[in-house]
Amino acid sequence: ALWNQCMSKLEGELPAQQFNTWIRPLQAVENGSELKLLAPNRFVLDWVKQHFIGKIEEVLSDQKIHPRPHVVLEIGTRKQQEVPAGISAIRKPAGVKKGLPNNLNTAFTFDNFVEGKSNQLAKAASIQVAQNVGRAYNPLFIYGGVGLGKTHLMHAIGNEILRANASANIVYLHSERFVSDMVKALQHNAIGAFKEYYRTVDALLIDDIQFFAGKERSQEEFFHTFNSLLENKHQVVLTCDRYPKEIKGLEERLKSRFGWGLPVAIEPPDLETRVAILMSKAQHAGADVSPEVAFFIGKRIRSNIRELEGALRRVIANAHFTGKPITLEFAKEALRDLIALQDRMINVENIQKTVAEYYKIRVADLLANKRTRSVTRPRQIAMALAKELTNHSLPEIGQQFGGRDHTTVLHACRKVQELKESDSKFAEDYSNLLRTLSN
Ligand code: ADP
Ligand code: MG
Repeated sequence: ALWNQCMSKLEGELPAQQFNTWIRPLQAVENGSELKLLAPNRFVLDWVKQHFIGKIEEVLSDQKIHPRPHVVLEIGTRKQQEVPAGISAIRKPAGVKKGLPNNLNTAFTFDNFVEGKSNQLAKAASIQVAQNVGRAYNPLFIYGGVGLGKTHLMHAIGNEILRANASANIVYLHSERFVSDMVKALQHNAIGAFKEYYRTVDALLIDDIQFFAGKERSQEEFFHTFNSLLENKHQVVLTCDRYPKEIKGLEERLKSRFGWGLPVAIEPPDLETRVAILMSKAQHAGADVSPEVAFFIGKRIRSNIRELEGALRRVIANAHFTGKPITLEFAKEALRDLIALQDRMINVENIQKTVAEYYKIRVADLLANKRTRSVTRPRQIAMALAKELTNHSLPEIGQQFGGRDHTTVLHACRKVQELKESDSKFAEDYSNLLRTLSN
């Protein structure tokens, strides 16, 4: 109970990604004057020791308990009653036929996965897993929005494991495929073989597990397969478009087990990373794309990396087709309708509307002179979003906010930047709005 209180305090004070990555996986054993925190592995343990122990003790002392519990950090997991008894007794069937396709796409590697602040952690954890199969984080749970590189990382893990050990038995499956294979197995009375097969692979990579939502029988089978793999220290890697706790229609026991290993978030990339990705993809395609063009595309296409690649492909294809060099003008022309479409969806007016809705205030309040806190913050956010998402200048944005001065807009942008770094609730609101607007 004590740890739960601390957790909710920490959740309020730390940025969501940090909280989810480092604090959420900890399990507490409360024992009189000792609070033992169990970390799933050495990596998490060291990190928490280095970066969060002070914070944890501070939050604990806020709870005003005497004597103040002493915090101990260890590697381990608490025994949970929801693990079906005897699951470890499941025998490994002898002579299971090997060689089902692993479904890995060799084009997705760590080498061609460009690293940035938004995906650094997910990439580092994936490399750890590939190099310490079953021994680093298990399961590794990568979550984040569409087109941000989850599937890429998953294949990269599989490819890397195979590179080091060509006889490793790896299976990549989209969760829909797992479901349909299972249904087929049921129809052919082969569910036994189905289960046994998956329980023997060295690494099972299941993509987009949000598709398990509402499919009870599949969840049940997956749960058993999953437990059996973990018990035998076989690697499981999962991806999902959201944090496990937030998947509706997924059983509680699955959610809690998914959180046992390491959940890592992958966030939308910032401009520099978008540009780096574009430059890398262009180079791979053997196309001559200048940083100037890459910045142009990166600035205009913000939603996700898949869209970014699509835009680049289009520019390159047009250049091939017409035999012209890829100048800035050329790129603008090639992407004209795509950008026009985006501009129609993202403009200052739309940003104001979205922000007003989010904070349940009126658009008129954003434009008027009111200076109460409940409208000044949203107003500043709307201005900062306008600066980030449109190509309007500061004076133009000020103009559209009830004729304000450009210094007001500048101040708003700075304030928002500052709050994003210091206030995790604020940072989350901002990224929610950004996501709503760029999709
Ligand atoms: P998700 O599974 O999260 O929806 P994908 O892994 O399918 O996203 O990524 C979409 C596309 O973007 C893929 O072609 C992938 O190779 C590319 N991509 C994503 N992140 C990166 C990155 N950091 N560096 C290079 N390419 C990337
Ligand atoms: Mg994917």
